Amino acid sequence: VIVDVWFESGVSHEAVLGRPHQPPWPSDLYLEGHDQYRGWFQSSLLVSVEGHERAPFGTVLTHGFTLTLNTETGRTEKMSKSLGNAISPVEVARERGAEILRLWVSQVDFLEDMVLSDEILARNTEAYRKIRNTFRFLLGNLSGFDPATDSLPPGELLEIDAWILGRFEELRARLVAAYESYELHRVYHGLHQFCGVTLSSFYLDVLKDRLYTSPAASRQRRSAQTALFLLAEGLCRLMAPIACFTAEEVWKHLPGDPDARARSVHETLFPEPLEGVADAARDERWSALLGLRDEVARALEQARRAKLINDTLEAVVTLELPEELRPVVEHFGPDLRFLLKVAEAAEGDPGGEAASSETLSGLRVGVLRSEGLKCPRCWNREPALGSDPDYPQVCPRCAAALQVILGGSEEGA
Ligand SMILES: [Zn+2]
Repeated sequence: VIVDVWFESGVSHEAVLGRPHQPPWPSDLYLEGHDQYRGWFQSSLLVSVEGHERAPFGTVLTHGFTLTLNTETGRTEKMSKSLGNAISPVEVARERGAEILRLWVSQVDFLEDMVLSDEILARNTEAYRKIRNTFRFLLGNLSGFDPATDSLPPGELLEIDAWILGRFEELRARLVAAYESYELHRVYHGLHQFCGVTLSSFYLDVLKDRLYTSPAASRQRRSAQTALFLLAEGLCRLMAPIACFTAEEVWKHLPGDPDARARSVHETLFPEPLEGVADAARDERWSALLGLRDEVARALEQARRAKLINDTLEAVVTLELPEELRPVVEHFGPDLRFLLKVAEAAEGDPGGEAASSETLSGLRVGVLRSEGLKCPRCWNREPALGSDPDYPQVCPRCAAALQVILGGSEEGA
């Protein structure tokens, strides 16, 4: 027998949470659609204030309604069974997986009404793949690494590895704050951007050369793996609430002693701040480098289209630099070519044909094809291929690595 629907929903806290003023009463959070201000929230408040002189909830959070896109009119409409335009969450979960549906929920600003369509779900599937592939790369390159014995302290990391951990720490603080204010779309966009752009398009792309060519126990490889491990472990915990299954899968595949950590990622808390990786001067330098890299990429793309080069590793880049970029280029020195993924990169006269950059005033980038030969091991172009008589086919850097690997020495290069 229903006495009154609003009265009955208004006393649900008494039925569900047990005796008032004893945990778990009051509820931490009431979550419902934004049509409940005059409904459930209101009736609960009336009953509870009358009976117990306080609200039965700590926080109220409301969400919007799901709209659908009418492809004929191009307008959004309320989903309704009678119109036959509703997308069933069960169907979506069956077709694309529950993880995709959850990602969609996290991606929209759910406080407002939100649009769901097949096209949006397809985009989410793409974003999910990007995030998943990032974790696949992180885990795939951690084989043979035991975080308990092989990790380097922050002060011993290579600069680029310390820098990416600094970026991660900035992301971590931002995502935790977003979770605390229920801004889940900021969590989603932060993760997507970090995995897709910061990691995949730059850091991991540059790292491949070092991971694939350095000896296993070398500082170069250990430094990279220390960063990869902290990224995998930390990102997994940050992602756990919105990609529950994927995060758990990652957690089970982390290297090291499984007994030394929680059995499930869902038994852990968000990561604590990473100490010792902040450095404002370094970050400024890297931000300038990324700006330069974008401009060089543009020039390389033009050279590729003009058939001057087939891939960027063939390019010799000559830079006319604005005053503020000179200390940056000087700082990176011989590493600059690896950060730009070219055969050579140095300051100099780029020649009359090089156009001025539209975004970085005072910068001109000249591109020529390298005369060097391709090292069959690392694919970089080197003028001095075969200078080591023991390893006549490879570049000096690879020859040094092979001395360590094949020479049986345990010491890193
Ligand atoms: Zn090489």
